[in-house]
Amino acid sequence: MGHGPAAATAARFARMYARTPEGVAFAPGRVNIIGEHTDYNNGWALPAAVNLATFVAWAPSDDGAVRVWSETCGDEAVFEMAEASSAPAAFWARYAWGVGMALLEEGLPARAVDLYSDSSVPIGGGLSSSASFEVALALAYLGEKEAEKVPRERLVHICRRAENHFVGVNCGVMDQFSSVFGAEGKALLLDCRSLEAREVAFPSDTVMVVADTTVRHALGEHTEGYHKRQQECRRAVEVLARREAAVSSLREVTREMIEAHARELGDVLTRRVRHVVSENDRVLEAADAMAASDVAALGDLLRASHQSLRDDFEVSCNELDIMVEVAEGIDGYYGGRLVGGGFGGCTISLVDEAKAQSFCGELQRRYKEATGLDAGIHAVRPGRGAGFKGARCWT
Ligand code: ADP
Ligand code: MG
Repeated sequence: MGHGPAAATAARFARMYARTPEGVAFAPGRVNIIGEHTDYNNGWALPAAVNLATFVAWAPSDDGAVRVWSETCGDEAVFEMAEASSAPAAFWARYAWGVGMALLEEGLPARAVDLYSDSSVPIGGGLSSSASFEVALALAYLGEKEAEKVPRERLVHICRRAENHFVGVNCGVMDQFSSVFGAEGKALLLDCRSLEAREVAFPSDTVMVVADTTVRHALGEHTEGYHKRQQECRRAVEVLARREAAVSSLREVTREMIEAHARELGDVLTRRVRHVVSENDRVLEAADAMAASDVAALGDLLRASHQSLRDDFEVSCNELDIMVEVAEGIDGYYGGRLVGGGFGGCTISLVDEAKAQSFCGELQRRYKEATGLDAGIHAVRPGRGAGFKGARCWT
């Protein structure tokens, strides 16, 4: 048996279930470099899968029940996956059950397995542990042979459906998309309207530092603040669509239209739209800067994104503002912004790889000095998308 997390996962499966696993699958977390609150507005985003992942080892179970051990939770769940079966009691286990249910709903085989899972993706830390858990589970339920027959786009939608419908969390499609389509050293320029994506080489010698403020003013993305912004965007589309035939989402809105209709929109909606429209432009500029390996320009675009999210979209908070402010001036820092829905959560900073360690230490120290809080900090690089251990590629 080899080394590394896949071999370790297989070994722990073997110890727990006293037989060798049928396979090992993995699925990475993701970070969205730029393009915030654009996904549900049919806009652009620039996510990357990261080099942290959920690993699962499994073998068919012999009693028709599904048995999932989550090392991360230190907990086991046993449940049936069948039409009209009910959700397991533990919240985390709903993800495991939901993925199977979403597969069955699509007419795909979701086999009853004994499964061991472990993850290096921090939970609720802005790196989408949920999508990485879902995608890894889907691969396990299908097994390598069946998974090969399922188009990857379909897998993305099934895992999103699992989270939206069976868990009840209203996430966009970016997380599962990135986990499935990620590529080593690449970011994905994602058109959230067509779901087409283009790989863009991430600058070498650069890392993404994700820093968790540890505060959650809105308890995650599926709460009031987030839904309120979605409603405001919908209302703005209604106003603009009455006057502009081309508009069916904020994607079609131009800066000129915002100016022309600012009075009807009113101050708040004008600023909400201005964020989305300018953020879409920044994503495209960021992809160009990235392709040109212009990390300084990329960093400035992240700074501008933060300002727009803070002032126009109003989803920042004191701790997020402090985290980006104290990062300024630390050696190796190119720029950063709040990442995710906002109202707490994490920031992303672009940092010179050679300075990453000292940057993380200094950011932690400055944030603690300013807030008294211990930030959770992870330096990541773009990593490969989901697959099976040992498989050269998976389509
Ligand atoms: P994130 O930004 O990390 O995706 P979410 O709130 O969307 O945060 O999802 C986190 C939830 O997903 C956890 O509370 C847990 O229920 C579930 N989850 C993620 N990874 C695992 C895992 N390895 N084992 C069990 N549950 C997990
Ligand atoms: Mg999530």
